[in-house]
Amino acid sequence: MTENIEFYESLVNILGPNRVRISETEKVLYSHDLAPLPKEVGLAFNTMPDAVCMPKNAEEISGIIKVAIKYDMPVIPRGAATWGYGGAIPSQGGIVVDISGMNRVLRVDQDNLEVEVEAGCVWKKVYDIALKRGLFIVSYPSSMYAATVGGWINTGGIGIGCYKYGSVGQNIRNMEVVLPTGEIIQTGFNGVSDHSAGYSLNDLFVGSEGTLGIITKVTMMAEPAPEVLRPTSYQFKDLMSSFPFMKAISRSKIRPLNISFVDEKHIKFLDMMGKHTPGPGALINIALEGSQGSVQYEESVLDALSQQHDGVKMTDHTAEHEWNERAYEFRPREVGLSAALGEVLVPLNKFQIVIKDTYELIDNMGMEASIIGMMTDRNTVALLPYFIYDDKKLIQGNTSLAFPKKLGDIAFDHGGRPVGLGLLFAGNLPKIRGNAVELMFDIKTVLDPHDIMNPGKSMEGITKQGVPIPKIAMDIGMGAMAAVKMVLPDDKAFKEKAKKFKKENKE
Ligand SMILES: Cc1cc2nc3c(=O)[nH]c(=O)nc-3n(C[C@H](O)[C@H](O)[C@H](O)COP(=O)(O)OP(=O)(O)OC[C@H]3O[C@@H](n4cnc5c(N)ncnc54)[C@H](O)[C@@H]3O)c2cc1C
Repeated sequence: MTENIEFYESLVNILGPNRVRISETEKVLYSHDLAPLPKEVGLAFNTMPDAVCMPKNAEEISGIIKVAIKYDMPVIPRGAATWGYGGAIPSQGGIVVDISGMNRVLRVDQDNLEVEVEAGCVWKKVYDIALKRGLFIVSYPSSMYAATVGGWINTGGIGIGCYKYGSVGQNIRNMEVVLPTGEIIQTGFNGVSDHSAGYSLNDLFVGSEGTLGIITKVTMMAEPAPEVLRPTSYQFKDLMSSFPFMKAISRSKIRPLNISFVDEKHIKFLDMMGKHTPGPGALINIALEGSQGSVQYEESVLDALSQQHDGVKMTDHTAEHEWNERAYEFRPREVGLSAALGEVLVPLNKFQIVIKDTYELIDNMGMEASIIGMMTDRNTVALLPYFIYDDKKLIQGNTSLAFPKKLGDIAFDHGGRPVGLGLLFAGNLPKIRGNAVELMFDIKTVLDPHDIMNPGKSMEGITKQGVPIPKIAMDIGMGAMAAVKMVLPDDKAFKEKAKKFKKENKE
């Protein structure tokens, strides 16, 4: 008890009483992220924090880490908790460090084409402020309205703009990071590239899921704002038949800003809800950006390729609408159900077989699901099938959560892999990385000698009792959940709710 009081007072000495939270309500709020977690997860993990801290700068975070070392407490960095893989929630209790209050845009530097922000800043804010001053933030997540800069970097983000400019990591100049020892470092350089200066420390922290340190400031590269940003949209009978078009674009010399797609089932879901759609079929939405001349040329190439491959060009109105919808892919949730998604990366030439297998999985598991996604470079496709389910129906809801695992297996079978490890899929790392995983453990030990920084995430699943969860246990558990789902009656919740939603929204 005395130790508890001392622990709390040590944090209050750094942050003051208002920015250290220990009430039960507050702890419950920070014990989950955006995705619903089955209750049974509580048997293996202690997702309830001991304290929640809201720092304002790196020095305060350094102080929190020193307290954590003294009391042997895990430290869990948290942005907006939109990731949904459990990365931002405790696995064994500890101190949640909520950095969403560190949200200032510090510098928009037109001279050096870079923008410096605090890591808790939301992407939409960075994008808007930079654009007002003539700079273009080249890649950002579709969760831009909520997701933080630090959160996306830590998930190794791929998103809008990646096709042309690369993932978030490829656009970082420099970061300020508080290490798990409390030391504060710079990982790169403002104003120039991190080239030939020893190991690339920027890259080390990208995708580290908060296990190597807490990012507090980021300097990212920006482009001059484009003369024209033009969305286009092409319709195909179904997603399968859009493949030759996407392949032809990726083998041409044009480089659109963004190539994303929604399948015919997504359009059908919207139609069932009474939302406006451009008619049945799959849509390939492509945004072009640059000078008037270069955009016109790229659009003429797209038009020709679409004609060659039986696509139909949609009106400007539809294309604008789809671009404006880029941050709202999960509209079908509006009927009042939960949505969860799986995410895999696959080589383009396996696109058709992977979507065929994925549709079969959806059918076998009796799910109401659709496939959306994007091309993240000339050869990599990110498939993001999402499913709509009723999380109040316990067995149906919980067993649905085996879908991402089964989807990951399909990707592995075809030379791809699942994306994101977090709390539940940490056991996948050895399968993804082979013996390189040992090097990763060594790096983690060097940076985090007290093993306090977000334990049980990314590297290996660890229960609240400190026992590592072998991958085989996860495979068996998820396999059993999927098997149960397959024998349950098919999901019908969306159909029923969509009908009601359509009626209510018409009246
Ligand atoms: C509607 C929707 C659309 C999405 N679209 C995309 C998309 O286009 N692309 C994509 O990649 N993802 C997408 N996501 C997933 C998610 O939004 C992103 O991964 C997002 O960037 C996470 O940011 P966050 O601030 O919510 O991070 P959190 O969920 O809070 O944290 C994510 C991980 O990063 C760690 N972390 C957070 N901040 C820091 C920090 N400052 N220092 C160290 N570690 C930290 C956490 O511990 C955790 O492991 C989407 C999610 C939703 C719901």
